Amino acid sequence: MKIRTINWAALSPQEQINALARPAIAESELLATQVGNILNTVRQKGDSALFDLTERFDGCDLKSLRVTNEQIAVAKASLSQARLDAINAAYQQIKRFHQAQKPEDITVETSPGVVCTLKTEAIESVGLYIPAGSAPLPSTVLMLGVPAQLAECQRVVLVSPPDKSGNLAPEVLAAADLCGINEIYAIGGAQACAALAFGTETIAAVNKIFGPGNKYVTEAKKQLAQQVPGFAIDMPAGPSEVLVIADANANASFVAADLLSQAEHGPDSQVILLSDSKSLIDAVYNELATQITTLSRQVIAEQALIQSRLILTEDLSQAVTISNSYGPEHLIVQTENAQSLLQNLRNAGSIFVGAYTPESAGDYASGTNHVLPTYGYSKVISSLSLADFSRRYTVQHITKQGLANIAPCIIELTDAEGLDGHKRAVTIRLSDEQGENSRC
Ligand code: NAD
Repeated sequence: MKIRTINWAALSPQEQINALARPAIAESELLATQVGNILNTVRQKGDSALFDLTERFDGCDLKSLRVTNEQIAVAKASLSQARLDAINAAYQQIKRFHQAQKPEDITVETSPGVVCTLKTEAIESVGLYIPAGSAPLPSTVLMLGVPAQLAECQRVVLVSPPDKSGNLAPEVLAAADLCGINEIYAIGGAQACAALAFGTETIAAVNKIFGPGNKYVTEAKKQLAQQVPGFAIDMPAGPSEVLVIADANANASFVAADLLSQAEHGPDSQVILLSDSKSLIDAVYNELATQITTLSRQVIAEQALIQSRLILTEDLSQAVTISNSYGPEHLIVQTENAQSLLQNLRNAGSIFVGAYTPESAGDYASGTNHVLPTYGYSKVISSLSLADFSRRYTVQHITKQGLANIAPCIIELTDAEGLDGHKRAVTIRLSDEQGENSRC
């Protein structure tokens, strides 16, 4: 097992920057061209391209793109009661937390006779991408499907790559069913994203696509957001990451387990420990070496640890500064006075506080969303929430007296900008004859 242990104080400023560099996102001209070709093929050939590309990339000779209600019923019937109960329990938890995010319209009379309202409306149609290349992810169905359901999006479409027999995992279909999704297509990769953006004979285009995916999916979302007017994506995605701040009081085996739970995501994941205790760092190192041998994804986790770090800081306040500058996707705090550190911690997608708050809880069943900004985007982008499935717009109504009250301000500013047309749209209304002609 290879993971670097670093004494932060011994590094130069440039070495400190290098120590926290993230693994490069797999971006290349070749990838951009490959994905661009897939998108063009789907745009030009529609459904037939989806059948061909699914055969080529998923090794599956699909008979039909759409998953039938009967297939959903069969999938549910194939699952044990324990599995169905677990999916349902996670669904309820996620629903409880997202339900509380429902926004209220806001109406403010900014000055007498000037009434401004901020309204929220669901995005009409959304597409949910559920990765399934290496493992099907029913938890991601819930993380996307629950807010789409609560936001009351009129149309919710789910896409996910089929297995060799053309099927989606029964857990994925059962979770989709709970979220009230019945428009499901067994397609994945860049071709699925293209179908959702351009539309095909069978699949009508959607307004916005959500969900994580591999490099082909991520590149496709990026290109489609630029190519298709009015088509939006949820957030830029990068490899998973966790940063743990722990002191001498932390349980080293808990900390090591948390680090490995992210390392097993993919070879390009990054995990970081910041601690003011050398003995904790040594204990975590030993635990990592032991625990990693028991993981079924040991090889992947070992690759991730190569670009991961165990960092000794001078004190916990330095750990807070480093964490804020890194802006991790997940931040775990296992220190004696976690609440006091929390006041100064910002720039994290989701924060897990205390010895009994593993990141896995947020991944599955505490209720928070597991779709989070990576790659330092936590400084500017929020974790996925109900708000992402809706849009806000304003409505205003002004009386004649209300307009007269704010007219001097508007006229002064239209004069400053030289926009006579804007000025006239106000003054024409305030002249007596014109004002009396209107009964709106
Ligand atoms: P995936 O569904 O994203 O990708 C599989 C698809 O990739 C296939 O259907 C195929 O169409 C396409 N593909 C495969 N090889 C190709 C090639 N050579 N050319 C063109 N297309 C090709 O599933 P995956 O591969 O398992 O990737 C899932 C990713 O999602 C992982 O990187 C994982 O870390 C990430 N993930 C992130 C989060 C998060 O919240 N950040 C959550 C879950 C998963």
